[in-house]
Amino acid sequence: MAERKVRVRFAPSPTGALHIGGVRTALYNYLFARQHGGDLIFRIEDTDTHRFVPGAEEYIIESFKWLGIKFDEGVSFGGNYGPYRQSERRDIYKKYVNQLLDADKAYIAFDTPEELDVKREEIKNFQYDAKTRGLMRNSLTLPKEEVDKLIAEGKQYVVRFKIEPGEAVHVNDLIRGDVRIMSDILDDKVLYKSADELPTYHLANIVDDHLMEITHVIRGEEWLPSAPLHVLLYRAFGWEDTMPQFAHLPLLLKPDGKGKLSKRDGDRLGFPVFPLEWHDPKTGEVSSGYRESGYFPEAVINFLALLGWNPGTEQELFTLDELVTLFDITKCSKAGARFDFQKGIWFNHEYILRKSNEEIAADFAPIVKENGVEETMERITKVVSLMKDRVNFVNELWPLCSFFFIAPTEYDEKTVRKRWKDNSAQVMVELADVIEGIDDFSIGNQEKIVEGWIESKEYKLGDVMNAFRLALVGIGKGPGMFDITNFLGKEETLKRLHRAIELLK
Ligand code: GLU
Repeated sequence: MAERKVRVRFAPSPTGALHIGGVRTALYNYLFARQHGGDLIFRIEDTDTHRFVPGAEEYIIESFKWLGIKFDEGVSFGGNYGPYRQSERRDIYKKYVNQLLDADKAYIAFDTPEELDVKREEIKNFQYDAKTRGLMRNSLTLPKEEVDKLIAEGKQYVVRFKIEPGEAVHVNDLIRGDVRIMSDILDDKVLYKSADELPTYHLANIVDDHLMEITHVIRGEEWLPSAPLHVLLYRAFGWEDTMPQFAHLPLLLKPDGKGKLSKRDGDRLGFPVFPLEWHDPKTGEVSSGYRESGYFPEAVINFLALLGWNPGTEQELFTLDELVTLFDITKCSKAGARFDFQKGIWFNHEYILRKSNEEIAADFAPIVKENGVEETMERITKVVSLMKDRVNFVNELWPLCSFFFIAPTEYDEKTVRKRWKDNSAQVMVELADVIEGIDDFSIGNQEKIVEGWIESKEYKLGDVMNAFRLALVGIGKGPGMFDITNFLGKEETLKRLHRAIELLK
């Protein structure tokens, strides 16, 4: 068989915000498609009308736009295999459901939910399968005329997949190897519901993967239990030759304790589990997003790429292009990946350091402005260069840097008690005099002159500098004093000194 062009898909159901695990699935599909020169398709699996949530589809599209994950085809992207929204493909599915019915590989079942409940009461561990289907109301047990009559009367029915027992089913998984089960444990899954005139996830998923010529199905581990059924469906349709290769990705696990990552973990420990802020249209609840929390999309991508895969080296920081080159689906771990959100914060910090001061300043400038300060880009960039290594997020800069732009109006009490000595006011008056006399206000020159003066007066360097800092900054911490004075300029430095002397005496 000729090598097929790699085609993979990300196929979310629009049931709410996109979970961060879904983002990782999409990312791995993206990396795989890019590295094989293949196509990445965006398909919306919306056949479960009861779970449909308005706005979810748009939310997912916007998330990927923000993250820089680009699709080649699909809902909102176009392409030759559309429509890509399953609710618009009813007629297509109908045809394939009938194909299975005609081939006696599926059957029609009329059992009502109540009747099914009764059976569940009667028979322990009831499952609709080869052992029990003969006891139920379906096209295998009812005469044909009766079946036709019920349908003509408009009775609701489902189409079930007729799974034959005794067959070994192999799922050949790129990560897990050969996963084998016996068909006996599977139930006759519902493939179609007349009430919705829509297929269920299983049928639509297989038909679309086939028609869209999907070569690899890369998805979360939670879908592994469905995979044997999917293999049997490919067989029933006679599509084994073009059956996609599966890869079931490891679960994302809680940052602490056992079990898989949930939204509640995020609420409990204070980190987002969604790419963008999400406003639940039903409950009105607002959930935080990585974007709104101040993460860089590159940092989120880098963080997620390493949850379940690693390049086998010490390297941790990767561009998307580097990931495309290095990613290896077969090297993904089988074991779940702990969602270490602190590591996500670390990645953001690293990206702050890696980005140029100008880039960070561009993000910081609007915050400066919001705080009522008019400053030049050059001066904002200067502050960023002095302070960016101290923060994990751009939005942490303002509280740390505001003193550069706004003179302190009060002085931290504890620092005053500790650092403002009896003679501090007097020493600061002298220091103001010294500074007044400095013409060349460069960092080096200020340092030389001020330290020379301290030495000549036999003052303690620490005492003078601590009081000086308190006067200019209002607290006991910050960057180098002469970096600050250099930024403030002589006039502002003196103004702040005099005010502190007056207020603190
Ligand atoms: N619609 C499924 C989901 O929401 C797709 C699973 C698959 O990729 O087959 O994740």
